[in-house]
Amino acid sequence: MGSGELMVFRQIGNVRYLTLNMFDSLGVINAIITRTGGFSSAPYASLNVGSTVGDNPEVVERNKDQAFTALNVSPSSIYDVWQVHGADVVCTDRPRPDKEPHKKADAILTDQPGVYLFMRFADCVPILLFDPIRRVIGLAHAGWKGTVLRTAAYAVIRMREVYGSIPADIMAVIGPSIGQHHYEVGAVVESEVRRAFGAESSKVLRSFNGKNESGFQFDLWRANQLVLEQVGVQQIEITGLCTACHLSDWYSHRAEGGNTGRFGALIALRDE
Ligand SMILES: [Zn+2]
Repeated sequence: MGSGELMVFRQIGNVRYLTLNMFDSLGVINAIITRTGGFSSAPYASLNVGSTVGDNPEVVERNKDQAFTALNVSPSSIYDVWQVHGADVVCTDRPRPDKEPHKKADAILTDQPGVYLFMRFADCVPILLFDPIRRVIGLAHAGWKGTVLRTAAYAVIRMREVYGSIPADIMAVIGPSIGQHHYEVGAVVESEVRRAFGAESSKVLRSFNGKNESGFQFDLWRANQLVLEQVGVQQIEITGLCTACHLSDWYSHRAEGGNTGRFGALIALRDE
């Protein structure tokens, strides 16, 4: 995807975030916000943006305010969804009004500058998409279910259908999420992966002597890369940041026993 460093950590006030340099240089504001610098206490410490994980909702709002203020994002410019581990894609040309219920979806697309797509993560894969020709952005969420359902591919297909994107033009980045070495899966997930990936399963499943009888680890990064390649995306970067390895930066549902917060990811076309 070009020369230079893929990404850099930045800090504004107490808010520390990861940003993709190539997207930024092409006019795409993007931030994957670390868990540091917020107000929540353990097990949600500290910048938890997940409102359905058991944390105090008022504190979650304070965390979001702090992050959005640091990043100079108005809450009224956000579009977010109710993430349900499905494959539905929402296209929007405006932010979500406060009173409008969240749509159930796991991918959001827009071609409108200043509309901030926002999602929440803790091990599941953030997939950031950008077509610099048609000026369309996307954000997708894929855990094992969203990966075998090919959510990222549906996002690309909608970019093609709705905005005229050519998949070869699209740049995709696989953000911080659980790495294969930390992602042992049981027999149910293993068989779903084999069904979805067929002959390519050996590229995404690695045998492992673990506590589950299946004894496999699933590579969500490579799997989403394959999903994207199958629909013609060629420019794919993997950040390679494992949430379970870096608990000081990211929440990890797996590494923290399912009792943790969610970090936020934001992407928007810069107003020119
Ligand atoms: Zn790891």
